[in-house]
Amino acid sequence: MHDEETVQRLIKSAEQQIRNAFEHIEGTIDANQWKVIRAFQKHQVSDYHFSASTGYGYNDRGREVLDHVYAEVFGAEAAIVRPHLVSGTHTIATALFGLLRPREELLYITGRPYDTLHKVIGSGPDGSGSLRDWEIEYNEVELAADGQPDWEGIRAAITDKTKVIGIQRSRGYQWRTSFSIAQIGEMVKFVKAIKPDVVVFADNCYGEFTERQEPTEAGVDLIAGSLIKNPGGGLAASGGYIAGRDDLVQKAAYRLTAPGIGGEVGAMLGTTRSIYQGLFLAPHLVGQALKGSVLAAKVFADCGYETSPKWDEPRTDLIQAIRFTNEDELITFVQAVQKAAAVDAHVLPEPWEMPGYKHPVIMAAGTFIQGGSLELSADAPIRKPYIAYMQGGLTYSHVKLGVITALSELQKKHSLS
Ligand SMILES: *Cc1c(COP(=O)(O)O)cnc(C)c1O
Repeated sequence: MHDEETVQRLIKSAEQQIRNAFEHIEGTIDANQWKVIRAFQKHQVSDYHFSASTGYGYNDRGREVLDHVYAEVFGAEAAIVRPHLVSGTHTIATALFGLLRPREELLYITGRPYDTLHKVIGSGPDGSGSLRDWEIEYNEVELAADGQPDWEGIRAAITDKTKVIGIQRSRGYQWRTSFSIAQIGEMVKFVKAIKPDVVVFADNCYGEFTERQEPTEAGVDLIAGSLIKNPGGGLAASGGYIAGRDDLVQKAAYRLTAPGIGGEVGAMLGTTRSIYQGLFLAPHLVGQALKGSVLAAKVFADCGYETSPKWDEPRTDLIQAIRFTNEDELITFVQAVQKAAAVDAHVLPEPWEMPGYKHPVIMAAGTFIQGGSLELSADAPIRKPYIAYMQGGLTYSHVKLGVITALSELQKKHSLS
C-alpha cells in the first residue's frame, strides 16, 4: 500500500519515537533563548538602537551595542557584526587574513576545510591575493579513519611556524561527523599544551545555538560565522560575525575596513533591527530546524536509507545527510524539498555544472533570503554515493511538509516501501 495514509502513519509513528530527542532540543532552545535575552538586557538594548546610520556611521550606538551583545552571547571579549561581511567565506577570510602574516602557518586539524575556502588558502604565488599568494603557509592534518582528530598527526605537524590552528565545527558537505563543543575543547587543550601561544580559530558556520555553549566558551580564541545561517534568525538580509579575544577581533576589524579604522565606522544602512531581531529568534529557529532534521533522519532510516547523523545521535550543526540508492531518487528528493517551499515552489531545480564543483550539483532553495540556509534547503552533488544534504527550516511544520512531500514523490516514482 503506497498512499498518503501510509506516509501519514510513518510520520506519526516516527514522531512518537523521537519525543526524547525533541525534549533535549527544547532544553537547548530555552537555555540559548535566555542567554540571548540576558545579553540584550545586560547591554540595555532599546528601540533607538535600531535606527539606520549613513555615511561613515560614526557613533552608531546600535552597531556598538550589537557587537557587545554578540560578544556576550558567545562568551567572548569582543565581536564585530556587520552586514558588510558578504558571506561566510568572506567572514572567515577576513578573520584569517587579520590573524596571519607572511611565513606564518595556518594548520587545519579537522581535515580538508569547506570547499569555498580552498581558493582563500590558494596554491601558490599566483597573484590571486590568497593566503599562499601572500606567502602565508598552509598545512592540514587529515582526520583519522574513525573520523576523529589524528592526535599524533597533529602533534607532529605543529612547528615553530604554526601561528593559527584551524578547526571546522560542522561536517560541511562531507559524510563525516561534526565536532561537538566538548570535542573542540579537547582539541584546544591538546594544541595549547604543545604550543601555548598558538591562536585557535574555529569556523562556526551552521553550529550556532545547536548546543548550549559555543566554541569561544571552550577555549577557542576566535570564531567566525554567517548571518544568513543560524545566528541571522532568518531575518538578517546579509552579514557575518567574528567573535573572540579582543586583540584578535581588532586585527580582523582592521582587515575588514582599514588599519586604524576597524569597527569604529561602517554605516548599518537600516539593517540593524533585523540583525537584532534575528539573533533574538535564532535559538528558537535553530531548534525548529533541528527537530525537522531529527524527523527526517528517523523517517528515512525507517524507510531503509542511511542517514548521518542518525536521529538519536547528538547534533552540533544543522546538516542532515541522507544517502539514496541512485541518481533518480536523489534528484526526486531535492526536487520535493523545493516543491514544499513557500517561495519558488513552482520552479523545478535541475542538476547543473556549478563553477568550482567537479560534478553537477542540484540545489533546492525556496528561501526568503537568497541562499539562506537556516531556511529549509537541500543540496546534492550528482555522484556516488548519492548523498543529499538537507538543512534548515524556519518552522518544524515546514520541514515536516518537506519530508512528507519527499516520501510521497519517492513512493510515486520509485515505489518506496
Ligand atoms: C557555509 C559554510 C561556509 C561558507 O559560507 P558561505 O556563506 O557559503 O560563503 C564555510 N564553512 C562552513 C562549515 C559552512 O557551512
